[in-house]
Amino acid sequence: MNIFENYATVLENENLDKYTSFKIGGPAKTLLFPKDEASLIKIIEICKLENLKYIILGNCTNVLVSDEGYDGVVILLKNVLDNISINGNVVSAGAGATLRDVANKALDKSLGGLEFAHGIPGSVGGGVIMNAGAYDGELKDVVKSVRLLNNDLEIIELTNEEMNFSYRTSIAQEEHYIILSATFNLESADPVLVKEKMDDLWNRRVTKQPLEYPSAGSTFRRPTGYFAGKLIDDSGLRGFTHGNVAVSEKHCGFVINKGGATAKEVKETIETIQKIVKDNYGVELRREVKYVGDN
Ligand SMILES: Cc1cc2nc3c(=O)[nH]c(=O)nc-3n(C[C@H](O)[C@H](O)[C@H](O)COP(=O)(O)OP(=O)(O)OC[C@H]3O[C@@H](n4cnc5c(N)ncnc54)[C@H](O)[C@@H]3O)c2cc1C
Repeated sequence: MNIFENYATVLENENLDKYTSFKIGGPAKTLLFPKDEASLIKIIEICKLENLKYIILGNCTNVLVSDEGYDGVVILLKNVLDNISINGNVVSAGAGATLRDVANKALDKSLGGLEFAHGIPGSVGGGVIMNAGAYDGELKDVVKSVRLLNNDLEIIELTNEEMNFSYRTSIAQEEHYIILSATFNLESADPVLVKEKMDDLWNRRVTKQPLEYPSAGSTFRRPTGYFAGKLIDDSGLRGFTHGNVAVSEKHCGFVINKGGATAKEVKETIETIQKIVKDNYGVELRREVKYVGDN
């Protein structure tokens, strides 16, 4: 019997490419979908006790999993821990709920504030830990509090201020805490206007972003004083191709999988972009996409 069987759906040597937005990634030695929050905590306890390497993933939309996969335990919160409840203007959501579902549930209750997050394809856990944002909104504008598991396996609740959010990071990311759930403070709003804003922002994404190709969204963080996409474009890299990977013609900030790409090809493309932009403009492009796995 697998040691995790009581706490999760267990898959062994399961390829991760079918779960990642990049459609890339070798096998996880053990892939777990926890049954509930208590099971998630138990799983982490076991991993620590047994000295097993582990990682938590949400919707896998900001990761590049290596071609060799992950030689440890991948705890995946896709379609689990995804409860959403609403009390007045406060929305509570489990780490595995998608930002889209949270925004839609808020809309159903005539609550606005999460329109900017509706098109971000991540989970509450993946979004809150890195303070995801778009179109002048960031999760830090609406997060009320966050329940987390600290490194001593204690459940703690941090307020918005205590989360120490800044551009694409938070104290939880720096301290390697695990997000269990979050609450959002929203405002009563006309649902017609909320829906109109969501649709407008979604149309802008469809027009400007290569959503027809697998990717992990913007590959690089915004360098202070510049736009990554413009630096890449001005470096002559629009449409640059390496194997089955390309810099999107539509949006140079996106590295896309044109079909059958490997993680190795993506990494080499990212390194090429970083070198050329550094040589041309002296700007270090820092990756936003997180590498998972050993190569
Ligand atoms: C087409 C496209 C468009 C995108 N647009 C945007 C955008 O507009 N703005 C933006 O900010 N991002 C955008 N992204 C990137 C991505 O959606 C966000 O970064 C999102 O927050 C990642 O959430 P996730 O659940 O997919 O995280 P994952 O990719 O699963 O994980 C990312 C990181 O978060 C950690 N993590 C995940 N869940 C937890 C948890 N519960 N506790 C602790 N750590 C956790 C993982 O360990 C990993 O290090 C886009 C991606 C795509 C593919």
